[in-house]
Amino acid sequence: MIFLPEPGSCGGRLDPTQALVPDDVATVVDWHLRPPRWTGVARTVCGHIDYELIAVNHPELFDRREHVGAPAREALWEARRVLAEVGLVLQLEVQFEKIGDQLALAVYGAGVAGRLTDKLWTEISPLLTTCCSMVREPRPDIDLLAGSLTPRRPAITRGRRVIPAAIRPAVYELDDVTHTWWSYEVFGTLREGCVCTAHTPAAQAVHIGPKNRAS
Ligand SMILES: [Zn+2]
Ligand SMILES: [Zn+2]
Repeated sequence: MIFLPEPGSCGGRLDPTQALVPDDVATVVDWHLRPPRWTGVARTVCGHIDYELIAVNHPELFDRREHVGAPAREALWEARRVLAEVGLVLQLEVQFEKIGDQLALAVYGAGVAGRLTDKLWTEISPLLTTCCSMVREPRPDIDLLAGSLTPRRPAITRGRRVIPAAIRPAVYELDDVTHTWWSYEVFGTLREGCVCTAHTPAAQAVHIGPKNRAS
């Protein structure tokens, strides 16, 4: 991994001699990479990369991780489309991880700059909220332009907006943040009876099967 951002890029690039990330994926993510969190190889946090296309060409990269608690991939792409229709960009935090000697992709975050209108919230929140997610919204009274110049106030948990389909995230806070952001755990624990999109057949199998590392 080489972290030497160039002007106009939002991150670093892969070592050109690396063999873990397929060439067609490397070409797309180069200059968007940031140092990994935890045990990953690298990660991206931006809205520049078409992960839907990567998932079409390499579904195994996402399947390999068996990530419990993140939204179903189709829900992510749908949120991206809905936001794009009004000129907003879905940003994704995707970590590149090594499982054995193979690459796997895990989605640890999704969100958008600013605070969503009530109409957009109604459309987006059931797509991105899972019972294993932490949701942070900018407080209604935040001055987004002042941003980090003002002292950060304690997060508040009242005045939260309703999420359609009665999906309850693990944590929901209004805070002095500039993005509406959903974070997903490394190993989520699905809530029984919940209808969020994290309850895919694959996730259920991992969740109740012998490979359940969340319990
Ligand atoms: Zn980028
Ligand atoms: Zn759920």
